[in-house]
Amino acid sequence: MSIIAITNQKGGVGKTTTAVNLAAAIAARGQRVLLVDADAQANATSALGGSRFVEPNLYHALSGRAEPSACVFRSAVPSLDLICASLDLAAADLELATAPQREFLLRQALSGIAPSYDVVLIDCGPSLGLMTLNALTAADAAVVPVQCEYLALEGLSVLLEMIQRVQAHLHPGLRLLGVVATMYDGRTRLSREVVEQLRANISSMFATTIPRSVKLGEAPSHQRSIFDYAPRSRGAEAYQELADEIMVRLAHLATPAAGAVTV
Ligand code: ADP
Ligand code: MG
Repeated sequence: MSIIAITNQKGGVGKTTTAVNLAAAIAARGQRVLLVDADAQANATSALGGSRFVEPNLYHALSGRAEPSACVFRSAVPSLDLICASLDLAAADLELATAPQREFLLRQALSGIAPSYDVVLIDCGPSLGLMTLNALTAADAAVVPVQCEYLALEGLSVLLEMIQRVQAHLHPGLRLLGVVATMYDGRTRLSREVVEQLRANISSMFATTIPRSVKLGEAPSHQRSIFDYAPRSRGAEAYQELADEIMVRLAHLATPAAGAVTV
């Protein structure tokens, strides 16, 4: 069983799109997958046919208001379960700030249920706050989507530093599984330059880049993954390839020195 946090403190970089479609790609391979929506905006929840009004949800699991196992719902995708997010999570950073072991509430909540799955994916919100910290201490590995845009590398170094700090002080087992370039448009020089620069500076870049694709943007409004909505699209192909790479890297996680954070 592996727990993967999909994280980047910037909004709109493709975290949720990556979390949802990776979850669907891995579930389609017959693996049991749990997607944990850790963003109060609940975009992953709605993309998979859930609702931010579903209770109990992640907020209840974290705050001890419900048994974590009671917060798990079946999604429309076979073999893919979901813990929904709700707006309450927005207050959780403050509310849980005084809880004992506040950095480990998600890890604790998942401890009983994660072993029933092959892969647990955590879709993080756009912050470096307590929820994201909880996702990183719960995770074995972080996957970082980066949008192909100006200054992509700048924001990334802040995040990689945070991952290093979590490794050093809270969770030595955390690994950076890899960084994936998203919304790539090969027709623009900017996209090509950004990917070039990322490859020159980040050793753990995935070979796969996710193309900018209208279909990827449309699928969530139909509560579908890209594999149901447009299975032959370039976006579907890219997320299959990314899932391949991720499964290979997960298999190597136990190797010494694998996945060390390199900026
Ligand atoms: P985040 O979770 O990091 O905020 P999202 O995955 O929600 O980012 O993506 C932000 C917006 O961009 C959404 O409207 C999403 O549908 C769209 N989007 C994400 N990835 C792509 C892509 N590869 N091509 C086109 N649109 C995309
Ligand atoms: Mg999101």
